[in-house]
Amino acid sequence: MLPFSDYHSHPQGHRHQPWTPELLQPWADSARRHGLREIAFTDHDRYHAGVDLDALDRTREANPDLALRAGIEWDNDPVTGAAGRAWVERHWDRLDFVLGSVHYLGASRMFDSIGEEAQLTDRPVDESYRDYFARVQAMAESGLVDCLAHLDLIKIHGHRPATDVLALVEPLLQIVRARGLALEISTAGWRKPVGEVYPEKKLILRAKALGIPFTTASDAHSHAQVGENFERLGALLDECGITEVAVYDRHRREMKKV
Ligand SMILES: [Zn+2]
Ligand SMILES: [Zn+2]
Repeated sequence: MLPFSDYHSHPQGHRHQPWTPELLQPWADSARRHGLREIAFTDHDRYHAGVDLDALDRTREANPDLALRAGIEWDNDPVTGAAGRAWVERHWDRLDFVLGSVHYLGASRMFDSIGEEAQLTDRPVDESYRDYFARVQAMAESGLVDCLAHLDLIKIHGHRPATDVLALVEPLLQIVRARGLALEISTAGWRKPVGEVYPEKKLILRAKALGIPFTTASDAHSHAQVGENFERLGALLDECGITEVAVYDRHRREMKKV
């Protein structure tokens, strides 16, 4: 079946571009073209100054056939993470959905950027994985996120641990279950050097066995990427026996049939 919701998108891309109905409308149009019924706008928290929830309300009025969700992707940026957290706390009641993610491993540059592989390989890869999952666990335990983004982003450049990744991620999955959080299944990994969905299938199956719910996502940084590879994603959901996905209204989760 074709997924109906895209719960990870960046209307501002990677720069400050305040939300207006004109900025958001092409994203709604793209969602509709792809047969989606829901899209969550989840700009990076470092661009929170551009997130205008009133502009979103006006866009909602113009698109009553779509569920347009107010979200944010809050990460562990050593410079902006604290201000991002304060912003999330301040706007919690008007947000539908908060994604938690880790893009930093101690350095001031995102490890998932092109040319940053050395951040993973300057020590044993297993250590990088353990460090990464520990940082994701801290986000999961923050009490400020509904769902974790790209759970195994650490594989982005194609480096794999010697230890079974299932063993490395298990403690984190236990926290995700205990906290009642969701995980996203993101097509973004298919367009990255690793060429594999986030998270990989065996992690999806383990999370499913634990009863952890999933969202579906593209991590679009352009409206042209909304719903990207969702046919392939739908086939993967079928293979994994996933028949319903999570949607959020003011952080209240509802499971809907795909
Ligand atoms: Zn991210
Ligand atoms: Zn993102």
